[in-house]
Amino acid sequence: MRGIDETATVGVVGAGTMGNGIAQVAATNGYDVVMRDIERALVEDGLDAIDESLGQFVERDELTAAEKEATLDRITGTTELSDLAAADVIIEAAVEKMHVKQEVFADLDEVADDDVVLATNTSTLSVTSIASATDRPEQVVGLHFMNPVPLMTGVEVVTGERTASETTAFAHALAESLGKETWESDDKPGFVSNRILMPWLNEGIRAFDEGVATKADIDRGMKLGTNVPMGPLELADHIGLDICLDATETLHEELGDRYKPAYLLRRKVEAGDLGKKTGRGFYEYE
Ligand code: NAD
Repeated sequence: MRGIDETATVGVVGAGTMGNGIAQVAATNGYDVVMRDIERALVEDGLDAIDESLGQFVERDELTAAEKEATLDRITGTTELSDLAAADVIIEAAVEKMHVKQEVFADLDEVADDDVVLATNTSTLSVTSIASATDRPEQVVGLHFMNPVPLMTGVEVVTGERTASETTAFAHALAESLGKETWESDDKPGFVSNRILMPWLNEGIRAFDEGVATKADIDRGMKLGTNVPMGPLELADHIGLDICLDATETLHEELGDRYKPAYLLRRKVEAGDLGKKTGRGFYEYE
């Protein structure tokens, strides 16, 4: 299994919310990055998001303008799968659908050198099933970053059925080299984080739908009452309602009725109101 040093190249699959955040953090920490999405416009959106986010670090005097430019120079955006062949480790952050992830991992298995570790940022899907699409399941691991990646310190390392202990150790070390702190979960539905978070969000949505309180009071009540920075409706918008629905459906399937997605969550996703990313979810955004 290949280790990495400061000259390594990190491959990132997906230039969306999580992919561009992971690419940014890898480049900020000195790695060269190849970020791949399926369409050029999506790659450009991801690069723009990184530019904007780094700009905010410059405004807060946490990064110089020269460091920002050097960071951007380390990131190559591409639509070519073959460009990921240059990577010493690959982190996948494509959409939360098993068939997509399995296709991506089968492709990565072809394109990446045999000793390269393949990590998935899945929120809830089985790392073991994703790994089964490859001939290197012992080198596949969950590396579950939190959103927004540049600001959140936590990373959940998920060990699949076949993940080798050296791959798990590598995943912790990689996350730490990106300035993150880790915890470890077995490959059970939702792992630690989403097994507990998703029903909290879902229940907030249900409480709103059933008229328990206004959305503002649900969010305010949970913030003041439990000292969290965002209430459930705000946080669901921030994560993306489609991502929340996919995650809740997986938990429902695996763990039963207590995880059934709220009716209003499904209705919002059907309407295309996916939260911040589409300008409207439970709240409206500029
Ligand atoms: P997103 O919809 O913002 O981005 C996903 C990107 O993947 C899209 O740009 C899409 O075009 C791209 N994609 C799809 N198929 C691809 C392929 N074959 N190759 C390359 N790119 C492909 O989604 P996101 O919020 O960034 O979520 C990505 C992953 O991270 C999901 O597994 C999600 O569950 C997980 N995750 C999300 C959050 C969150 O808060 N949004 C938090 C932790 C983990």
